Amino acid sequence: MNRISKLFGIKYPLIQAGMIWCSGWELAAAVSNSGGLGIIGSGSMYPEILDEQIKKCLEATNKPFAVNLPMLYPDIDKHVETIIKHKVPIVFTSAGNPKTWTKYLQDHGIKVVHVVSSLKFALKAQEAGVDAVVAEGFEAGGHNGRDETTTLCLIPKIAKEISIPLIAAGGIASGRAMLAALNLGADGVQIGSRFVATFESSAHENFKNKIVNLPEGETILTLKELTPVRLVKNEFYKKVEAAYEANANEQDLKQLLGRGRAKKGMFEGDLVEGELEIGQVASQIQNIISAQEVVQEIIDEFHLALKEQNANKFQF
Ligand code: NDP
Repeated sequence: MNRISKLFGIKYPLIQAGMIWCSGWELAAAVSNSGGLGIIGSGSMYPEILDEQIKKCLEATNKPFAVNLPMLYPDIDKHVETIIKHKVPIVFTSAGNPKTWTKYLQDHGIKVVHVVSSLKFALKAQEAGVDAVVAEGFEAGGHNGRDETTTLCLIPKIAKEISIPLIAAGGIASGRAMLAALNLGADGVQIGSRFVATFESSAHENFKNKIVNLPEGETILTLKELTPVRLVKNEFYKKVEAAYEANANEQDLKQLLGRGRAKKGMFEGDLVEGELEIGQVASQIQNIISAQEVVQEIIDEFHLALKEQNANKFQF
């Protein structure tokens, strides 16, 4: 058992990222039942929906699972009370100050992990008393840091400076990438994009099919003036690009983005006008399979790569 599997009481230090419109109870329960840690992404759920999702997850698995709580969420107090009511054992907080909720959640027996994109925020999270941090590199899909620091640069830097367990995220979708992240100093990995293209993900079929056919270079980190987000360069993004060329200000961008674009793209399957949040690693995803197969493939490849490493394949 390593620090992450011990902290969460799971078999593999492999965590499925909480993703709006993609990670409901079906995906979270399937990942937890496969030996990883499944996460319900609560950012796109009205309070009564989260309540229902947690209940279903509790029925579908007796293994630990978590809820991701983006702090930008408007009804966060209600989500927190629902999480406490159902005794969810672990919460991953993101996009906000880790001081706000950590102690309150921990006082209710909940382990708290905070998502960061830089050393500065990792130290802040450690100081706030979180149980672990997720460090997410520039490659990752969805909301992301402004600094464009890649996972390869981020993980060794943070691993040296913090004492609490570290989870690497961004650009990881295979066992070899998982081993690389652990070699860089992480204790576990968080994987998002690979799990979007699974049977259990609640993403629309159009979005899943878009991911498996996505060529290299087809995602971009944009809209830094609002909340930086990595998405597919579709027709909606072309409008964003045109707006930048026309010197759009923050207000213009806000107006162009409007409301509910992520739902339109990822949940309703509008590949033209929707916001399609996915990581760079999408170009490595070739098929839609079950979450259990994803976990197994990654773990099998991890052990194969580790065997090669131990057999001095890299000696020179
Ligand atoms: P928008 O403001 O564009 O739209 C809000 C969406 O959230 C709507 O589709 C709405 O559904 C749904 N929603 C669920 N609960 C509520 C609520 N209590 N009040 C208002 N709307 C609600 O936001 P986004 O879709 O871009 O993001 C939604 C949330 O997800 C935010 O909290 C954001 O911080 C988070 N997020 C996190 C990401 C990450 O990487 N961690 C990535 C992107 C977003 P409906 O249309 O049915 O009304």
